[in-house]
Amino acid sequence: MSALLELRGVRKEFVIRGGALQRVVGRVNAVTDIDLSIERGRTLGVVGESGCGKSTLARVVVGLHPASGGQIIFDGKQINNATSGIDVASTRRIQMVFQDPYSSLDPRVPVGASIAEGLVVHGIGDAASQRQAVGEILQRVGLPAQAADRYPHEFSGGQRQRIGIARALILEPELLVCDEPTSALDVSVQAQILNLLRLLKKQLNLTMMFISHNLAVVRHIADDVMVMYLGHIVEVAPAATLFANPHHPYSQALLSATPVADPDQRGKRLRLAGELPSPLNPPSGCPFHPRCPLANDRCKAELPALTAVGPTRVACHAVAEGRAFSLHQAMAVQ
Ligand code: SF4
Repeated sequence: MSALLELRGVRKEFVIRGGALQRVVGRVNAVTDIDLSIERGRTLGVVGESGCGKSTLARVVVGLHPASGGQIIFDGKQINNATSGIDVASTRRIQMVFQDPYSSLDPRVPVGASIAEGLVVHGIGDAASQRQAVGEILQRVGLPAQAADRYPHEFSGGQRQRIGIARALILEPELLVCDEPTSALDVSVQAQILNLLRLLKKQLNLTMMFISHNLAVVRHIADDVMVMYLGHIVEVAPAATLFANPHHPYSQALLSATPVADPDQRGKRLRLAGELPSPLNPPSGCPFHPRCPLANDRCKAELPALTAVGPTRVACHAVAEGRAFSLHQAMAVQ
């Protein structure tokens, strides 16, 4: 299988300006040295706390933020440049589903016109064929074709997310980037949208990047999982491997906080001390060291590189040194 999307050393820096003269007063490295690849037909789940850089990464991939460095390679060809994100031809092949579809739909415009916008921008078809395509894609996401003539406020949250998915799919993309697509929805509706995305992935042979802070959601949909912390990748593994045997202390803590339905499968909850540090003033060395019970002097001074441990790649000195086994003893448990 070949990689549809590859990122090599991708980073995104935001410049903070202040004062009357709008001078540069700081820089934030929102994502740093991201190397990843997603093979055709697979779903990569990207998880981490709010502020870890996962949504910025999604926006860099779809070209909404130009990368500050590194290469975005799509279908074997570099598609990014320093100023305008990704090349226009690739924007058709990479589409995004947003967390809040309501904010991306114009309340004064019938949803059919919003869905057809991509076809109009790319000059695909005439008005009649665009209308037909909108009707077909609405039906594919579980809404009647006549919904095209209605306005966003006439739909429920789940229906609006279906419209958001239809809007992303109308251009027949190969890669669908979903940024927290269910987190604004009721739990029962979340499951319907997740099932719809799984079905569409199969029917349309999509490759997906699925961003979520919720590991239970990612477990439901991802083939591979990447854990991010303060703009860095800390662990990447096939989903089954990560959920069965997380290596990084942060992945272990995240996983232990995920609700499990089966009481026999519930383990001790690892309690993380402190908050996610400010990306304006990141810690030296391993970014997780102020919260990590296994941190030592090396951790405070040296950024750990991603290292292969079986099918997992993990960035942790303790794992490399063979002392991660003591995590449960070292962390407070509930
Ligand atoms: Fe980071 Fe060190 Fe903790 Fe590993 S043991 S997560 S390198 S602080």
